[in-house]
Amino acid sequence: MTETLLPPNRILVADIGGSFIRMAAVGTRPGEVGKVRTCPTPTEDIAAFLDSLSVLTAELAGEVDATAPLILAAAGLCNAATGTIRSANIPCLDDKPVCRILSARLQRPVGLLNDADAFALAEAGQGVGRGHRVVFGAILGTGIGGGLVVDGRVVRGRGGLVGEWGHGPVANQLPRTLDRPLPRMRCGCGQEGCADTFGGARGLERLHEMIGFAPAKSHEITDRWRTGDAEAAKTIALWVEMLSEPLALAVNITGASIVATGGGLGRDAALMAELDKGLRKRILSERDEPVLYPGRIDQAALVGGAILGHQMRQSV
Ligand SMILES: [Zn+2]
Repeated sequence: MTETLLPPNRILVADIGGSFIRMAAVGTRPGEVGKVRTCPTPTEDIAAFLDSLSVLTAELAGEVDATAPLILAAAGLCNAATGTIRSANIPCLDDKPVCRILSARLQRPVGLLNDADAFALAEAGQGVGRGHRVVFGAILGTGIGGGLVVDGRVVRGRGGLVGEWGHGPVANQLPRTLDRPLPRMRCGCGQEGCADTFGGARGLERLHEMIGFAPAKSHEITDRWRTGDAEAAKTIALWVEMLSEPLALAVNITGASIVATGGGLGRDAALMAELDKGLRKRILSERDEPVLYPGRIDQAALVGGAILGHQMRQSV
């Protein structure tokens, strides 16, 4: 789609990662992502970080109207109430009122959500979650993340925390598919035994080693599993069992009728079909059709950010 077909109510959205900032003017209908501008993310210098966003905003100013919000979709803990971002990869942001500073400087509203929330919002609005009232977004990347959308709106948890099914100790360290208990691994959140320690790509690799197999990358394990390799099959069976339990709890608690999956493992359709089988055995509501669907929105952070920005405009 060319930029001239973009609607007048475009939103500026910045997808802020640990390595790059990607910004575009984005509409709220499918396919309305304008040309993406990119710059390296300044991680240690807050002034340089703010300058980078100002420069990208100036470059895109001709593609939006003067009152269009800027939405920041960032990896990390995003507190919309305080407008602060806490990201291990971008330490210069810690406890700085980034939204307030940018809003004063750019003379536009500035909103904030984390990338898992943006993913859930994008899939609920334009992707696999369309038509569902309660959509849970489950990120299975290097680690685990989550987001929750109800009636088209992202749920904002206290301090920016919601949908965090990867954290909090999980009791299942005595899986049926193994003849011995597994130790609870220490998690980055400070606890032990969180799903994040065994559920993402790094966790899958850890599980593979813990049950006695030679170290392998997550994609090697999933590739071998697809070819019928017995070791990889054992690891994946264990992974599905351990991960489907906390995910079933997330579904039971939120009442989600669909789970959109993202991240490297979450885009693997065959692996998600296997996890879906484990999940459906464990949730309360009986389902003949899948609950888990790999997300299908390209640039979900930008699309989800635009949906939030559009909602901000409507509520003014
Ligand atoms: Zn944790």
